[in-house]
Amino acid sequence: MQLEQLEQTRRGILESKSLLVEMKDVGKMYPNGTVAVQHANLQAGPGEFLCFVGPSGCGKSTVFNMITGLTSHTEGELSVLQTTPKEARKHNDIAFVFQEHTLLPWLNLLDNVTLPLKLRGVPKKERIEEGTRVLELVGLKDYLKVLPRQLSGGMKMRVSIARALISRPKLLLMDEPFGALDEITRQTLQDELLNIWQREKHMTVLFITHNVFEAVFLSTRVVVMTPRPGKIADVIDIPFPFPRGEEFRVRPEFGEYVKLVSQSLKH
Ligand code: ADP
Repeated sequence: MQLEQLEQTRRGILESKSLLVEMKDVGKMYPNGTVAVQHANLQAGPGEFLCFVGPSGCGKSTVFNMITGLTSHTEGELSVLQTTPKEARKHNDIAFVFQEHTLLPWLNLLDNVTLPLKLRGVPKKERIEEGTRVLELVGLKDYLKVLPRQLSGGMKMRVSIARALISRPKLLLMDEPFGALDEITRQTLQDELLNIWQREKHMTVLFITHNVFEAVFLSTRVVVMTPRPGKIADVIDIPFPFPRGEEFRVRPEFGEYVKLVSQSLKH
């Protein structure tokens, strides 16, 4: 995506009625009295890549759980895909990827990634086509019949991503997906994830990470959260065009943005 396009997308967000996520003064108090999130305001439009950074316990997962309707907000207004989170979830437009892969050990990769379609009664021929498509997207088309235990950690994560993509989601939420991977595998998967995101033009990704380098590399905007009660302290534009490759990681401007986000985290 070129810079101009990026700016158009940003402008579009403010004007458009097609916001994927809109939070107005959203707060969450758990039944035990813990205030996990307070006064959170955020808009996410089509085709964005937002990384959430912040110290442990600052409410990142709570924000994700509210967006997916797993837990309800207790303050403010939250709309997801123009409706309530619970309603949005029913339409298969939201998908998740977690750090721990949730693959079924007794199913081969094709059966693992097509399971969501099988549960919805999609015919076998279509399931195979779609399963092959997503496994190809993540570079695993030669492994359709392989069992998860035969795979490395990075490959298992690829399968989890493929399974999330099978429903062609408009919104993909990823909670520290690469946290358990070694640095080389992590960078390879970052590159691949950006490639996939660029191909699926209108898919918006919300991504939690502890790693500021990862956040700057991946994001169109970085959402910085403060410690409890979690607030959105800053939303920082990362105004560099895509595709971003190895050369972006070594550019001086990359370092400057890493510094900017790190400073914001310390405030
Ligand atoms: P993060 O993802 O940034 O690490 P979380 O959203 O998991 O933060 O947690 C935010 C705060 O809410 C923490 O203090 C955590 O202990 C608390 N919390 C999370 N889930 C619950 C729950 N179900 N009941 C009570 N407190 C919770």
